[in-house]
Amino acid sequence: MHPDQLEPALAALAAEHRLRQRHALHSPQGPRVNIDGRDYLAFASNDYLGLANHPALKRAMQQAIEQWGVGAGASELVAGHFAIQQQAEAALADWVGCEAALVFGSGYAANLGVITSLVGRGDAVFADKLNHASLNDACVLSRADFQRFRHSDLAHLEALLQKTPARTRLIAVDAVYSMDGDEAPLRELLALAERYDAWLYLDDAHGFGLLGEGRGALVEYALHHPRVVYMATLGKAAGVAGAFVAGSHALVQWLVNTARTYIFTTAHPPAQAAAILASLQVMQQEGWRREQVQQHILTLRQFMQDKSLRLLSSRSPIQAIIIGTNEAAVGMAAALRERGVWIPAIRPPTVPAGTARLRVSLSAGHTAGDLAALLAALQQVAR
Ligand SMILES: *Cc1c(COP(=O)(O)O)cnc(C)c1O
Repeated sequence: MHPDQLEPALAALAAEHRLRQRHALHSPQGPRVNIDGRDYLAFASNDYLGLANHPALKRAMQQAIEQWGVGAGASELVAGHFAIQQQAEAALADWVGCEAALVFGSGYAANLGVITSLVGRGDAVFADKLNHASLNDACVLSRADFQRFRHSDLAHLEALLQKTPARTRLIAVDAVYSMDGDEAPLRELLALAERYDAWLYLDDAHGFGLLGEGRGALVEYALHHPRVVYMATLGKAAGVAGAFVAGSHALVQWLVNTARTYIFTTAHPPAQAAAILASLQVMQQEGWRREQVQQHILTLRQFMQDKSLRLLSSRSPIQAIIIGTNEAAVGMAAALRERGVWIPAIRPPTVPAGTARLRVSLSAGHTAGDLAALLAALQQVAR
């Protein structure tokens, strides 16, 4: 980007209805938000269990600030590894049924750090076409031969695996796809990983907290295996921030020694670990939250059955209504906003061209009344 090109490039984005704008929240995250001074019923966040503003998590974080202070002050390896962080990592490993876990600052950082520590020049990575952008960036940064297979197309993946001369291979997938809401064929992927001697890297950003009674895709599909590397984020259903990677003691030790986004960054605030511990407890004690989301998913899908709108197949809280052009999707989102309902229009490059969509994100924070209001608004704007 040349300095002279900034303004025209932004104008071009606007002309294609692709200019992104930020809207200031004046309220906590939740089903009802105040955005730019106006109240909305929102179906936009990944706070699937309604934990981002949960009293138990807030209390845990407040108490931890009193006990541990605010900042970590150093990277984990230098002087920033707090006992409460150790406790959170042990609890996360236990929750997903692994030997050990390691917390990263974000899912983006975890993907970059872990993939670049497992594969490098001369190795090969195989990635689903619809993987999250952070996984793609990680694969590029690893300098391994980076090959993408058609979405959930096992035959295509196998053909690529058959041809690779690389000795170390890694297959990377989202467990639940972030913009479509469908799930990867995980058992079949593990079978391929075994047959072709590859790692299987699972990004469970959207399954953790929901699948497997809240324990995530690893538990839902019983995928515990030495070649499976599990990553889940803690800023979505868990309601806090950060991410963790789980696997064997040896894997975690290797990451502590080589994952650059773990080593060369200041540890996150210790109070975050306390909130994560509280989040796991709520997930365990308030199972009704998962049931509530399931009920909302059923309600929306039943309503959409006889509508002309195209709803992608998904049993996750991510329900994507395909609109088509950017302009139409942006227009629908604006019409919904006028009715007090906030649903983001997701456009390329986040999704393939021509598949601009409304991404409806359901949460346990929503009530049955909220769902009724959503359906009424959709009914009106679909006309
Ligand atoms: C959100 C997301 C990430 C990034 O996680 P952050 O903690 O938000 O950085 C990674 N992978 C997938 C599939 C995601 O949806």
